[in-house]
Amino acid sequence: MSEYYIGVDLGGTYTKAGILRVENSSMDVYGFSEAPTPTDSRDMLIDSIVEAVRKMLEENDLPASACRGLGIGAPGPLNRARGMILHLPNIPGMSNLPLRDRIGDALGIPAVLENDANAAAMGEYLFGAGRDVQSMIMLTLGTGVGGGIIVDGQILHGAHDIAGEVGHIIVQPGGRLCNCGQHGCLEQYASATFLAKHAADEVRAGRKSILAKTLKKKGSIDAADVNEARKAGDALAAEAWDTAVHHLAIGCVTLERMLDCELIVLAGGLVNAGADLLDPLQAYYRELDWKLSEQMSPLAIATLGSRAGVHGAAGVAWQAFGS
Ligand SMILES: [Zn+2]
Repeated sequence: MSEYYIGVDLGGTYTKAGILRVENSSMDVYGFSEAPTPTDSRDMLIDSIVEAVRKMLEENDLPASACRGLGIGAPGPLNRARGMILHLPNIPGMSNLPLRDRIGDALGIPAVLENDANAAAMGEYLFGAGRDVQSMIMLTLGTGVGGGIIVDGQILHGAHDIAGEVGHIIVQPGGRLCNCGQHGCLEQYASATFLAKHAADEVRAGRKSILAKTLKKKGSIDAADVNEARKAGDALAAEAWDTAVHHLAIGCVTLERMLDCELIVLAGGLVNAGADLLDPLQAYYRELDWKLSEQMSPLAIATLGSRAGVHGAAGVAWQAFGS
């Protein structure tokens, strides 16, 4: 007999949902839906999620009463035990929002709240790049650097629910000031934002680069522009890319030394560069890694893309409420 769980991934711009079907030992996620996240009021936010789930269930001929649990992945900071969003960085007016109970009660489905980066890591672990391992670390290289750690099949939450904040490992003592208040965090070097900002700052300061043309034409530079310029032989772009990759390798070695996990999975916009990112990263990673043992946690690129959060949120519900 099949069991059903719902996964919801609350994003600053879009909210996605899906249905997880578990039958014997097989699991699949289907019935995906996606809708803009309303930011006008708390009630509108809750109502839109509830309506989106109801509609998705209707379209798939699945009554809410057949669902054993619902998982919600949301940006932090959260109080997971109480199922509350403490603060949403990109949506004002959502402080101390009891999201878990408001959505769970409205749908009549037991619900669980999880940090969105942890949920995405669980998605890759259960359904994506990590499906054959027991322990993995995921680093999401986007606007910032997020992540999640899975040990023996469980999300590592830590004493204060903030384990897995891999973007805030210090990789450059006294380095760039981070939004978190520390200096030299990984996300200040290995994010798409760093590549774009560093290149634009240097061009504005008068550095010669083919990216000056891009900046003039588009008004901004993104990480893909930097990679293209690097491939065309641009020195500034090569230097920016190398700085990002080198610091990312330092972060990976640090994580490997702490956790000795089976796999390090890389996700987010920067991995669209594929081998252009992975090859130089592997080279630095091998160079920096200790010589005590041949064993290394392999690096892999995530496979689920932007659906990892929905898969993972449903997986979190399955872990919480499954038989
Ligand atoms: Zn930081």
